[in-house]
Amino acid sequence: MQVLFDRQQGKTTTGDMDPEALRRYGHQMVDWIVEYLKGVEDYPVLSKVSPGAIRSSLPTHAPLQPETMETILGDVDRLVMPGMTHWNAPGFMGYFGLTSSGPSMMGDMLDAALNVTRMLWSTSPAATELEQVTLDWLRQMLGLPRSLFGMLHHNSAVLHALVAAREALPDLHIRRRGLAGRTEVPRLRFYASQEAHASIEKAAIVLGIGQEGLRKIGTDNEFRMDVAELERAIREDLKAGWLPFAVVATVGTTSTTSIDPVPRIADICERYRLWLHVDAAYAGAAAIVPSMRWVLAGCERADSLTVNPHKWLFTSFGCSVLYTRKPELLRAALSLTPDYLQDTTGPGSDMPNLMDYDISLPHRFPALKLWMVMRYFGQKGLEERIREHCRLAHLLAQWIDTTPDFERLAPTHLSVVCFRVHPRGMDDEMELEALNQRIIKRVNAGGHFFLSHTRVRGKFTIRVAIGNIRTTEAHVRGVWENIRAALRSERDSIKGLLGGGQSGIMRMLCLPGRFR
Ligand SMILES: *Cc1c(COP(=O)(O)O)cnc(C)c1O
Repeated sequence: MQVLFDRQQGKTTTGDMDPEALRRYGHQMVDWIVEYLKGVEDYPVLSKVSPGAIRSSLPTHAPLQPETMETILGDVDRLVMPGMTHWNAPGFMGYFGLTSSGPSMMGDMLDAALNVTRMLWSTSPAATELEQVTLDWLRQMLGLPRSLFGMLHHNSAVLHALVAAREALPDLHIRRRGLAGRTEVPRLRFYASQEAHASIEKAAIVLGIGQEGLRKIGTDNEFRMDVAELERAIREDLKAGWLPFAVVATVGTTSTTSIDPVPRIADICERYRLWLHVDAAYAGAAAIVPSMRWVLAGCERADSLTVNPHKWLFTSFGCSVLYTRKPELLRAALSLTPDYLQDTTGPGSDMPNLMDYDISLPHRFPALKLWMVMRYFGQKGLEERIREHCRLAHLLAQWIDTTPDFERLAPTHLSVVCFRVHPRGMDDEMELEALNQRIIKRVNAGGHFFLSHTRVRGKFTIRVAIGNIRTTEAHVRGVWENIRAALRSERDSIKGLLGGGQSGIMRMLCLPGRFR
């Protein structure tokens, strides 16, 4: 074998980093990670760099000659870290609170070293079988029926669910013949609430169903799909010549974590023979807590369901589960085996070749980290952590409800709190929006916390999302303290805006405590 020269390590026979160098740098890297996590709160949660700053600090060409690992790791500290927003910090409360926990990192490391594709069972039997077992464990924890087939994806696999739903339509042969230019095929339509995640609409775009093929259904006063409107829409569409084929219900919407009435939606799906997909990306994990099993009520009737361990199960990104009770349809839609991938394991195996159920080849071994997380924390440990996050959210909700000049804008079922600052006498929506935007800006500029916003019935809404494993009551007190301090700093600038008159009545309409 050619002997290559690694400038630091001397001779290497592999061409790769010398094994002893890997050991040395690997240890350094683990030390770096430990120190990072110990000191993660010393960084501003939201990166403070200006746009383009990172790019302009980097060379415009890749190095011609090898560089030392010391130089590279030094540049991570010097050039990369200032441009990081710290999603894994306990003060990260924007979007959803997420975690890459210790056991998840261990799984990721191992995964990087093994670097497999689980396209065929034989291309790493353990990768397929461990995944099947781990997802069956999770299924049991969530109280879902035995008959579900589970598979891990990098992202929420609503696209896969809809492909299967489309395949379920009899006699259309869309897989083979496509949709375009076929006058005999009615236009397909599926349904989701106005609060559904953007990935649902993107799936409609990608599948050639088009944005018009997704009809968005209105919601009730707690942001849940209006089932009567759903049924009306389906009837109307049938009359107008559309072909309804699926409904996507959301358990835990991204904006307010509202939970669609799945049992009633399932009734409609049965009545009209529609595929029911449940998007429980974030909230599904809550069903691990026995007293919160209700979040998945009715989901045993779904044809498919997503839950993302990378949302609220302390597992790093790239770990989303798709369960379906009709894997044969997923397979019928997506199985395509070129000669070079013909499985030679022979008949008699009931182990799936996961590439038959996926749009792309299923790369990597994401079950490893989930398996490690589930074993390291145990069902009880996961349960405790999720319950604690909900307790913290309720605590914050309580503080909001009992503090003048604050109002909650959505029920707090889980670990996300939606609210806004609403000073007495200030009832102009534009002014309230500007004020709340400034509050978020002040809190984020403080560096200890990161908050994002949403819009609830058109109202600009502050969102506090609790979900990082390291977030404690002290952090929640901290963010609450920061928010009130931001309001105090705004007092002077808003004094002139506070009117009298009927604003008292306006206040009555948005008294705290509407959502208990
Ligand atoms: C986060 C989220 C998604 C998207 O999940 P990815 O895994 O990032 O694709 C979809 N639906 C809901 C309700 C979500 O909260």
